[in-house]
Formats: sequence, structure tokens, C-alpha cells
Amino acid sequence: MSESNSKILYEKAKKLMPGGVTSPVRAFKPYPFFTSHAKGSKLYDADGNVYIDYCLAYGPLLLGHANSKIIEAVKEQLEKGTLYGTPTDAEVRLAELVTSRIPCIEMVRLVNTGTEATMHAIRAARGYTGRNKIVKFEGCYHGAHDYVLVKAGSGATTFGAPTSLGVPEDTTKNTIVLPFNNIEALEKAIDQNRDEIAAVIVEPVVGNAGVILPKDGYLQTIRKITEEEGIVLIFDEVITGFRLALGGAQEYFDIVPDMTTLGKIMGGGFPIAAFGGRQEIMELISPLGKIYQASTFGGNPISVTAGLATLNVLVKNQNILYKHLEQMGNKIRKGLLDIAKDAKIPAEVNGVASMFQIFFTDQQVIDYVTAKSSDTAKFMRYQRALMKKGVFIPPSQFETCFVSTAHTDDDVTKTWEAMDAAIKAL
Ligand SMILES: *Cc1c(COP(=O)(O)O)cnc(C)c1O
Repeated sequence: MSESNSKILYEKAKKLMPGGVTSPVRAFKPYPFFTSHAKGSKLYDADGNVYIDYCLAYGPLLLGHANSKIIEAVKEQLEKGTLYGTPTDAEVRLAELVTSRIPCIEMVRLVNTGTEATMHAIRAARGYTGRNKIVKFEGCYHGAHDYVLVKAGSGATTFGAPTSLGVPEDTTKNTIVLPFNNIEALEKAIDQNRDEIAAVIVEPVVGNAGVILPKDGYLQTIRKITEEEGIVLIFDEVITGFRLALGGAQEYFDIVPDMTTLGKIMGGGFPIAAFGGRQEIMELISPLGKIYQASTFGGNPISVTAGLATLNVLVKNQNILYKHLEQMGNKIRKGLLDIAKDAKIPAEVNGVASMFQIFFTDQQVIDYVTAKSSDTAKFMRYQRALMKKGVFIPPSQFETCFVSTAHTDDDVTKTWEAMDAAIKAL
């Protein structure tokens, strides 16, 4: 593998951008490869190397890179203008698609990123309930804004101390962080903060601590308790929306939250996200109500066009597409676990549908603490070895690997060979 062009670019980038990157996880040692182009399941780097891509831009590319349906639709729209600052027919059609497919969403607002979506959903929940506190779970990521950049103490109920410098404790003192998959901790927190909690926000399948599945009945119980307590339940489906099923995790698990945030997949690789929910809550948003939300690029015709093209492909092919993705996911998960067993390396493989991740641990991974029991140095050796063999997975134990509809059986076979070699060499 020749590395020179990426290395030269990285040396230059480091002087111009913090860590040489635009988002932190993209930086890894000794230096990341720089991508020149991508198509289908493949990334091509500045040195002519090819990678089968399971990072898929951290989730958005359910249909693979440069899907022709999306590209054609966007090309056509480019000629008609890129930003109007007025309502459009296309955004109404997209809103109609989203509300008809995502069970809890009766009204929706389009934004640009998942970060915006969760920030506004939380504000809406606070405005609606007139309460300040929110509950989030350890290991769940809801974007990079102040309310949710909070780390918890190990296992116990903690009032959040900010994870990042520059986040005032005054902001995060209202964020209660609890362990995932632990109903007792939630019951206790609600008991101690009766009538003060506006929202519980959760990734129904955690995709930001590796992959962690909810225990049987866990999400159902959260739904029941929040309903009884008048707490707004927000499913952050920025990863799971349109992925686990057309109607997201809420359709997959058959649980209807009060609000939902969407992003990533919905733009097919273009920046668009959304938050929505019960009409009663959404009607309080400006200009109808007093909860303020606004965005210059919100609903821009390029992203909306990409979103429509993406969702139309998903709707049209839903009967085969989701089954196919689940089969591909199962195949990779089973193969990976067998490879680890053969090599006698203790490992857990978690996943569902098109999501998977391996943890080098002998513990079952059910929450952030057990996820952290994984040998992350071993994981990074595995990641690097895969990369050298032309398979790219996210350079972090605490991210998720994804399969797309563009991945072929041949890709999977090559991936197993790379995984086998990488794990045997650990
Ligand atoms: C990626 C992600 C976000 C943040 O989305 P951005 O578009 O990066 O702002 C929020 N929630 C979840 C669950 C995510 O995975």
C-alpha cells in the first residue's frame, strides 16, 4: 500500500485544521487516508487504494456511495436553484413521506443535522412540559450541543458534569445521565425528580458506543413510565430511522414515542435531518407557538431532493430491501463471530439489521460500562489490519459498522478473508 499522498495531505491539513480534520473521529494514527472518490460499497483514496467501506460516512449511506437515483435527482435540481428561502412543493412531499412512515410523527420540521434535530426536540419537550430536566443514557450520543455533551459517573445516577470544556455546568446540571438497559436507575431518577423531567431521550438501539441492543421489554417499560409521568419520550433515530425498518426502530420494536429525531440516512449523503412528533407538541413551535426554531438552510431544495429520492427508493423496495440488509448483516455478524471463535479470541459481536460491531471482551455488552470492558488497543490493531487488506471500518471501538444495499456477496467474502487474517494476527 502506498501512503505518500495521504501523508503529505495530512501534514498540510494538521497545520490548518485542528487534528487535520473536520470531525474528530476522522483522525487516527498514524494518519487517516484522504479519499479521492467513492462509488457503491467502495472508497478510493488519494494513493489509488480501494476499500470496501463499512463506515459509510458514519451511517448516512444506506444505499451506498453516489447512488445514481439520488445523483440524477440532485443534478436536475441544481439547475433550478439551490436555495430559495421560501416554501417548496418538494418539502411538503418530503414531510408527507416522513409523517406517513414514522409512526410517532404527526408534524415535522426539517433541519440540517442530527445535532440541530435533538437540540430542537429537547427544547420543544421543555417548552411543552414547562420542565427543565432531561434524562439521557450513558454511551448514547445526541450530537455536539451543550445539553447532551455529558458523561456520567460509572453506573450510578449522576447529575451531568460536562464532557467538554466550554460547556457551562449551569447548562448540564439539568441533564441526568443514567446507565442504558437499567430500568431501576430510571425509576429511581424519576422518583427523585418528580414533575421536573421534561424528556427522556434515547437511541433505541445504541449506535454510538459500538452497537448495544435494548434488553427485551426495556424500551416498552421506558414508554410506559414516561407516559405515566407526563414525560416526553424522544427516540433519537438519527441512526436507526429508515434503517431498522422504513418506520425506524419504533416500527421494528412496535413502540410509539412522543417525538423522534431523524438525520443521516434520510438525505442519502446530503445534509438533512428532522424532528417531529405529536401534533400537540409540534404546534407549539414558532410561528404557531412560542418555542423558537429557525434555519437558513433548513429544507433547502438540494437536500430535500436528495431526501425524496432516497426515501422513494426505500419505499419502492421496502419488501426486499430490509430483508436483504438484515440477511447481509446476519451473514457478516455470524462470520465475524465464527472467525473470532476459531482464533480463540474472546469477543462479542453485537448488531441488528445493517448494524454490527465486535468487542474484544468476554463480557456481554449491554451498556457503556460493559462496552468499555473491550480491549480498545486490540480493536485498533484489528481496524488497521483490515484497512491494510482493503476493508475500512470506523477507527473507533465506539462507532458502528454498517452494510449498505451496494455491498455484494463478493464484498462479504473478501471482508471475511480480511477479518480472518486480521483477527488471527492479533
Ligand atoms: C450522528 C448522530 C447525531 C448527530 O448528528 P449530526 O448530523 O452529526 O449532527 C445525533 N444522534 C445520533 C444518534 C447520531 O448518531
